Amino acid sequence: MVNFLINKLKRCRVCGSTAVVFIPYANAAFCKSHFIAFYERKIKKTLDDYGFKGGKVLVGVSGGKDSMALIYALKRLQNDLNIDLYAVHIDLGIHEYSEKSKKIVSSFLSDLGIEFEIVNVRRFINASIPKVVQTSRRPACAICGLIKRYILNSIAYENDYDYIATGHNLDDVSTYLLKAFLTHRSEDILRAPTPVSPPKKEYKLVGRLRPQLFLSERDNQLYCELNHIPYIDDPCPLSSGASLFKYKLLWTKILETNPVSQINFVKTVFETREKIDESVQKLDFCKYCGYPTTSDDKICAVCRIKLRVNKLKIKTDNRKH
Ligand code: SF4
Ligand code: ZN
Ligand code: ZN
Repeated sequence: MVNFLINKLKRCRVCGSTAVVFIPYANAAFCKSHFIAFYERKIKKTLDDYGFKGGKVLVGVSGGKDSMALIYALKRLQNDLNIDLYAVHIDLGIHEYSEKSKKIVSSFLSDLGIEFEIVNVRRFINASIPKVVQTSRRPACAICGLIKRYILNSIAYENDYDYIATGHNLDDVSTYLLKAFLTHRSEDILRAPTPVSPPKKEYKLVGRLRPQLFLSERDNQLYCELNHIPYIDDPCPLSSGASLFKYKLLWTKILETNPVSQINFVKTVFETREKIDESVQKLDFCKYCGYPTTSDDKICAVCRIKLRVNKLKIKTDNRKH
């Protein structure tokens, strides 16, 4: 991880008082209030640059530092961004980890005065995430991410939200893209998240906002700490061994050479992608749930998982009788 904290005395770039943080990619030191202003300005600029004009926004809040920083910043920017803000937390059923996350999120959102809902994953897939993971050979985070995206989209679509906002950060997207390049997965490059994806209601797809896409994980952590925002810092018990982590470490070396490289890398991919015709994926509707899918047999990835989980349940129940 790049050293963000000041190791020699620096002055805030804006007001000249003693700085508390140094941001290498901006080559700037800031005091507490000017770092907060820098952070929130970046969120607003990212959304403006990608054409966001406001609307009804549902924020997915997991309890981690990214989404807790996001909901707090969006609440402060609510008028400037012209948004109506609501939140949802998905209880994934990952034992104490989920219990702890649920508690932190509920008390924080109540204190902030944001309307929110807690949704249990079982309502959609008839099993907890650890159970679903047991039935699959795919990495836990790939399955969990897929299910979370599906749930957020269907809640938002059914309740007439324009956008879902999530806490994807620069480390997430740059690592995802780096892995896609290094493992020769061009379809992942086309699929990588962008700061704003407009709604496609005709395909039952709500728009997506990732306002922190040009802010690092460290920026989010710092924003939480300077604003006394609580967050769950324990690692998710299912995340260990995720291969993305190895690719993430590569960035440490690259950033030592050029602190702006991570932002430049992601922006270069986005700009290149904009030049490519958008006709890459044909969407169809899932024959079970009616939400979109690109699969030829018209079964979306979540219904496929649901079918497998139910089949295994029936087998186990038969064995018991
Ligand atoms: Fe799900 Fe992976 Fe996040 Fe755990 S770390 S909550 S498995 S996406
Ligand atoms: Zn200052
Ligand atoms: Zn489906």
